[in-house]
Amino acid sequence: MSIDFEGKVAVVTGAGSGIGREAARAFAARGAHVYGADVNDRGLAETQALITNAGGRANIAHLDVADEAAVAAFIARIAEESGRLDIAFNNAGITGGAHRIEDYPTSDFDNVVRINLRSVFLGMKYELPLMRKSGGGAICNTASVAALTGPGAMCAYAASKHGVHGLTRVAAMENAAHGIRVNTLAPGWTETPMVVANSAQNPAFAALARAAIPAKRGAQPIEIAEAAVWLCSAQASYVMGQMLVVDGGMTIGGFEPS
Ligand code: NAD
Repeated sequence: MSIDFEGKVAVVTGAGSGIGREAARAFAARGAHVYGADVNDRGLAETQALITNAGGRANIAHLDVADEAAVAAFIARIAEESGRLDIAFNNAGITGGAHRIEDYPTSDFDNVVRINLRSVFLGMKYELPLMRKSGGGAICNTASVAALTGPGAMCAYAASKHGVHGLTRVAAMENAAHGIRVNTLAPGWTETPMVVANSAQNPAFAALARAAIPAKRGAQPIEIAEAAVWLCSAQASYVMGQMLVVDGGMTIGGFEPS
């Protein structure tokens, strides 16, 4: 049975780039009417064009995912226009700077937590009631392998991504009996345009990073997006409150035999 989202309405945040763009395309390719949101208007317009040129349906919205009034208005617009919400991929996020905890600017910490964690809370706060009215649905929240590990110099990112899974588990518990499944997606090193550009500037670091991944390569964004699609599909109907790690084996631990 192939995945079919015909007649379903899906929200994708961070849809203007990287994993979010590929997920928006992948949901639309299965028939979903996608509402893509981002602060990157040019990227959003490109995503919309990719979807509509392929025969899919996409609306876009300029949205700061951490702004409560804006999130509420975005979901109210979907309710008004489409009358339902079946899928939400709460995916927008930023990495933040790299500093030891004692040097981490507090305002930067607050900003990373605001965009990566408060956004997921706000997204679900407004998505869940509309999903309930729609008769159920599925939510996927993007964390990271940093939700499982302690990457030095990335305290705000790691804390926010650990928090994403905590929120996910609470939402899954509160909604399992109401036909809404909530799960976390934890990507590993993914070759989004920004990562590819950084790698080109620092090829030695990129080679080291790839060597440290058992798969010996980063993920293509579509490989992560397909996991989000599966988590939100009927094929994952009994998967609730879990974190799906898609990392080329990065967090297996242990050693390869010589
Ligand atoms: P990306 O930079 O290509 O895409 C992120 C998108 O989020 C951008 O389009 C950006 O404009 C948008 N965004 C940022 N702040 C926003 C805000 N306040 N409101 C709305 N949109 C906002 O990066 P990506 O790699 O596709 O990241 C997607 C998610 O995957 C993020 O949550 C990121 O933390 C996570 N992730 C990425 C990797 C990786 O290696 N690329 C690894 C693990 C987790």
